[in-house]
This record gives sequence, C-alpha cells and structure tokens, in this order.
Amino acid sequence: MKKVVTILVRKAMDYDDLLASQKMMVTKFHTHPEEFSISSVVELSHKEFEDFKSDLLAERKILEHRDGIILVKEIGKSDSSGIVVQTSGFNYARYSGLPMKKLDYKKCPRCGEFYVEYPAISRKDNKTEICPRCGTEEAILACGYDFKFISFLDNLHNYANQFNVTITISAPEKEDVVIDPDK
Ligand SMILES: [Zn+2]
Repeated sequence: MKKVVTILVRKAMDYDDLLASQKMMVTKFHTHPEEFSISSVVELSHKEFEDFKSDLLAERKILEHRDGIILVKEIGKSDSSGIVVQTSGFNYARYSGLPMKKLDYKKCPRCGEFYVEYPAISRKDNKTEICPRCGTEEAILACGYDFKFISFLDNLHNYANQFNVTITISAPEKEDVVIDPDK
C-alpha cells in the first residue's frame, strides 16, 4: 500500500488556505507530520483537479462512500502533487493535506523544532542550518542583548506583523535591531 507523509488540516477552504495552514501548523504549533497509508486514489483531469483545488469544501460525487485516506491527483502527475483527503463519512474534503517530502520540513538542531522556511546559517560555525527564529536569536545575542530582550522582541514582532510596520530599536553602544513584518 502506498504511503504518504502529511499533516491533515480540518476544513481548509482551498489549496492556498491548505498550504498556509499546514505551514503554520509546523512553524507555530510544531505539529509533526505523520505517515498515512493511501486506501484509494482518485485521478482527475487537469480542469477537474483545478476545480477541486479551488474549493475543497464543495460536496463531490467522487468522494462519496470512500473511507480511509484518499489521494486526489491529476492524471499523469506525481503523487506528491496531489492532495490527501479524509472525508470522515462526508462527501467533501473534511480533512486535507499536501504531501510533504522529507526535505519540505527540517528539524532545527539548535532548538529542536520543525520549520519549513528557508534556513538561517548559524554564526557559531558559519555552516550549520538553523531555523529563522534561532538565526534571529543568535544575531540579537551577537549584538550584545540578552535573552530577556529576545522575549520582548517576540512581542514586538507580533506588533510588526499585526500593523505591518518595521520597528527599529536603538540603544547606546549597541547595534540597531530592525524588526520587519513577515512577508
Ligand atoms: Zn531553532
């Protein structure tokens, strides 16, 4: 039986929503991806698959009476480009997930958390890949600030995102710290 690694998201609206939710579950809630066995595969034409991706909550004949883990994909395309679906007895994609290759998520050796963004390079040896958050933390410590200051920055980062502003902190005899909102 074919296996797939993913994180199942409840009631994602469409492909973009699913992608964003899955990323957030890894980076923010540290959800670990799981391995599932695929019990059936539904193959759709390009047009049908695009329609499926654009509305995951629509009720569909193709999902009726299908138990277990379903892989919905476009004919002739790879399994990894499909969408994993669990209907839980409904006829829409009540749970859905994008297949994750091992490389799609990495474990940060510094804090031990999973992340999906582009890694930062540790200042300690200039080669170890660490998560962006640890990268920022190392940079801030290198600027002469301490750990207490880092939790203060976490709050500021939330504000930067909320109001979409860049915040610059200046202190005498220390390097400026610039906090940009997430893109
Ligand atoms: Zn880390």
